[in-house]
Amino acid sequence: MTLQGKTALITGSTSGIGLAYAKALAGEGANVVINGFGDADAIEKERQALEQISGAKALYSGHDLTKPEEIEAMMKEAAAAFGGVDILINNAGVQHVAPVEDFPVDKWNLIIALNLTSAFHTTRLAIPYMKEKKWGRIIQTASAHSLVASPFKSAYVTAKHGIAGFTKTVALELATFGVTANCISPGYVWTPLVENQIPDTMKARNMTREQVMNDVLLAGQPTKQFVTVEQVAATALFLCSDGAANITGANIPVDGGWTAQ
Ligand code: NAD
Repeated sequence: MTLQGKTALITGSTSGIGLAYAKALAGEGANVVINGFGDADAIEKERQALEQISGAKALYSGHDLTKPEEIEAMMKEAAAAFGGVDILINNAGVQHVAPVEDFPVDKWNLIIALNLTSAFHTTRLAIPYMKEKKWGRIIQTASAHSLVASPFKSAYVTAKHGIAGFTKTVALELATFGVTANCISPGYVWTPLVENQIPDTMKARNMTREQVMNDVLLAGQPTKQFVTVEQVAATALFLCSDGAANITGANIPVDGGWTAQ
């Protein structure tokens, strides 16, 4: 497969799963637009490294995707640089762990805005380019939490179930335009997002770090292994291939068997 001549925009790609998608897509020759927060020098190094993978271009657009006007600015930057977006991966996301009755209202609003509503905005803005070319791939990093719930993650589970429904609707609307829309639903992947929730989970469940790792995070993952970012990215590459042209509206677990139980 080659994605030469195509442009992929990946939200939240300065770290973790998003950066792995960017590397995998650049590896197939796609131009990539990366987005997210972090140290400016480190991001510039990553951007240059992406360009060296295949010679395709990499653009960094550091907008805050909780703000619709910044999402519009990012999509305009992508269009100005590459004439549009062929592959959209909605991946930016944050987590907060607390009981519902103590859940901070600002954290609820942040998680819904970033993990769910930002995907509506990027998708609505990318669709015209895809329809025009009669080809497109919309991929969401959903989560096992788009299929099942866990306690203390009310906002995250709500946003992830929401994006699964949104994706099915988009798939139906675009079914005759050569554009597919699918969710990838990882179980626990070892990234900063997971590492950062360990202290709050220790507090919420009154557990040690080791107990959180083994009795909470990996308890429900039958393989007893964290998923790797490369395994998630490999699934996205498959969804971009011609072989996956008839997979649309699907929610693909990459979760070591978690949601099979
Ligand atoms: P991560 O923390 O490594 O990456 C999150 C990315 O989002 C970073 O690039 C960060 O800068 C960016 N980001 C944060 N706030 C932003 C904002 N306001 N605007 C733009 N970008 C912003 O996390 P990750 O584990 O790689 O998570 C990526 C996605 O995968 C998330 O949607 C997450 O819910 C999902 N996911 C992760 C796991 C896991 O176990 N790590 C499991 C299932 C699903």
